[in-house]
Amino acid sequence: MLRKILIANRGEIAVRIIRACAEMGIRSVAIYSEADRFALHVKKADESYCIGSEPLAGYLNIYGLVNLAATTGCDAIHPGYGFLSENAEFASACKKRGLIFIGPSEDVIRRMGDKTEARKAMTAAGIPVTPGTDGNLENADEALTVAEKIGYPVMLKATSGGGGRGIRRCDNAADLQRNFQRVISEATKAFGSADVFLEKCIVNPRHIEVQVLADHHGNTIHLYERDCSIQRRNQKLIEIAPSPQLGEAQRQYLGGLSVIAAKAVGYTNAGTVEFLLDDNDRFYFMEMNTRVQVEHTITEAITGVDIVEEQIRIAAGLPLRFKQHEIVRRGYALQFRVNAEDPQNSFLPSFGRISRYYAPGGPGVRTDTAIYTGYEIPPFYDSMLAKVIVDALTWEDVIKRGERALRDMGLFGIKTTIPYYLEILQHADFRAATFNTGFVDKYPELINYSNKPRPDVLASVIAAVMAAHTGL
Ligand code: ADP
Ligand code: ADP
Ligand code: MG
Repeated sequence: MLRKILIANRGEIAVRIIRACAEMGIRSVAIYSEADRFALHVKKADESYCIGSEPLAGYLNIYGLVNLAATTGCDAIHPGYGFLSENAEFASACKKRGLIFIGPSEDVIRRMGDKTEARKAMTAAGIPVTPGTDGNLENADEALTVAEKIGYPVMLKATSGGGGRGIRRCDNAADLQRNFQRVISEATKAFGSADVFLEKCIVNPRHIEVQVLADHHGNTIHLYERDCSIQRRNQKLIEIAPSPQLGEAQRQYLGGLSVIAAKAVGYTNAGTVEFLLDDNDRFYFMEMNTRVQVEHTITEAITGVDIVEEQIRIAAGLPLRFKQHEIVRRGYALQFRVNAEDPQNSFLPSFGRISRYYAPGGPGVRTDTAIYTGYEIPPFYDSMLAKVIVDALTWEDVIKRGERALRDMGLFGIKTTIPYYLEILQHADFRAATFNTGFVDKYPELINYSNKPRPDVLASVIAAVMAAHTGL
């Protein structure tokens, strides 16, 4: 087993990994920028090292991090998500230094990180893929020709994109002409690559993804699916496991398909195969994420498998502890990404000081976060502050529990996405599980919640007014 792991990340996912290490008797090493001096992961790890005054550079410094891991006596690096988690060069640098990279092989990261390569590999494996270009586009003319062939609307996408960026829907030739340079410059800035490709836009699809685990002994299993259709600007807001929109036969089919996909590329460690589901109940492979995902938590909730622990065990060379038929699924789980954003102001980041915070609790509630009362949110990083995860035996109950947990949470001093989520949970389409990725845009009125004070807030206001009048 591994003895000491450097966590090449920050925030809630660093804390999540530290917790897994603690349970496994593994020493954890945290890293932090000057801006993160007061971050929770720094306090929670067994050892912490400052990696410079630049907010981002240190977290992205491949050789600096590998060096630090080696000199502090670590035998492995966990990259978390974002940052260097899908960087093949990082995996390679670890290997060269005799360190274990907790993730798939360098080769698999490279192939799956390139969305056109991934599409090719999946097509070769017989997995249905969204119709589109074979490789990258040479120029706007080629894009127009291909779009004519597959039919509008089309999606113009950055080949090395991620985090919902570098994606534009084009409804006609003029749109495509206009967006071509825009996506290229976006991709160059965000991902350091100007490669773009086209695929058919699946109109109002559901985003369904499957969690897979594969060891180094030829065993590959899946842990069922997550429905991440509740998104804004191609970024996930609320995730659900399993999808309340799938029948059991579809679920089994998709799970099996994902295992085939993972095996076809020689996948090892934890990964996610993302699909779009169209109105005719057809699945199309979209991309594979070669890392732990933000929403791995809800899969843990319904299966009881600790995915980060499994990642570490697999990296250590241990065989999987579960066979496919031993994976037991129970009930439903929801994850709410509590972002420091103002939904009423185009989801603009709302950084600042958290004047007061207390976590929601009670049965079936988990909170993954790195915030605390008095914490000053640095403006350099992700706006996701916390993940509230709830689980219950039925779909109706998990919605009620989600509502209760969000109201139970106390988070003051900044604007968050919580009031918006409370509106979504009330919506008939959400409750009937008949939503798709167009949900957020379809119901803009859900963002106008200010004129409806939360019942709990209203109750405390009324109590205060009554107290003032009665002199209590
Ligand atoms: P998930 O797929 O787990 O839901 P997200 O898409 O929300 O994750 O991305 C998680 C984090 O990783 C975000 O901070 C996002 O900006 C970052 N990220 C994801 N892919 C990339 C990428 N290719 N390049 C840079 N950052 C990325
Ligand atoms: P990222 O790497 O940023 O996660 P994805 O390729 O996974 O990018 O796409 C992110 C989101 O964009 C999807 O969840 C979906 O909502 C939307 N999307 C991507 N491709 C298509 C498509 N061909 N048709 C419709 N929606 C799409
Ligand atoms: Mg994706």
